[in-house]
Amino acid sequence: MDEDLLLLIISSPSGAGKTTLTRDLLERHPALAFSVSHTTRKPRDGEVSGRDYHFVDRATFDSLVERKAFAEWAEVHGNRYGTALSEIERCRDEGKRGIVFDIDYQGAAQIKAARSDAVGVFVLPPSMGELKERLQRRASDDADTIERRFKNAKREIEHYGEFDYVIVNDDLEQAKARLNAIVLAEQSRRERMAGRAKDLLQASRDD
Ligand code: ADP
Ligand code: 5GP
Repeated sequence: MDEDLLLLIISSPSGAGKTTLTRDLLERHPALAFSVSHTTRKPRDGEVSGRDYHFVDRATFDSLVERKAFAEWAEVHGNRYGTALSEIERCRDEGKRGIVFDIDYQGAAQIKAARSDAVGVFVLPPSMGELKERLQRRASDDADTIERRFKNAKREIEHYGEFDYVIVNDDLEQAKARLNAIVLAEQSRRERMAGRAKDLLQASRDD
């Protein structure tokens, strides 16, 4: 994979706001592609297959695991989720400058193990009380699912130390600005700009 391609992982406990933040980031940066994961979870109202997720049944998911079709996969809140290698290829073939992964800490660890230059951002809620309220306000899951996701939050937050950046999503506009700032800084890293500098040097030699 191209070394100057930004691999940006965004993780958080469920309800902290990473989907909201990721959507805003993709609107600001048309040169970033969203990696559409496979999942065995049922679609929520308004979710579209192929845009939000590739919704598949368990047998299909397991056969993809068997065929080593995933760059990473994990069991999260009782369902399976995974990033297909073909999805990464698709994003790269579109000529984008980066790929955004909305995946959990287990998937983040697998991507980081394969690509140590991948950038991890962990989103925290301002408080556990607010996290619960956001899960309830989203109104897309039943009470048992909300309870299960809330119980898992502590275990997920314990993994914040495996990420490069941490954003507290309290004021939404500020959190969006912080995520944008991280992307701008990461895009400006010398390693990702080396191609541009070399092109200029080559052109100046040709003059
Ligand atoms: P996640 O993808 O992390 O599960 P979502 O992006 O779906 O979380 O956000 C959960 C709920 O919280 C949604 O209803 C969303 O509109 C709301 N939300 C997100 N960020 C904020 C914020 N900073 N302040 C208040 N509500 C928020
Ligand atoms: P949700 O069901 O709320 O869309 O997502 C639940 C959790 O699964 C979130 O933490 C989300 O980041 C994670 N997730 C979504 N796609 C993937 C994936 O492809 N791989 C992994 N490991 N986690 C994922």
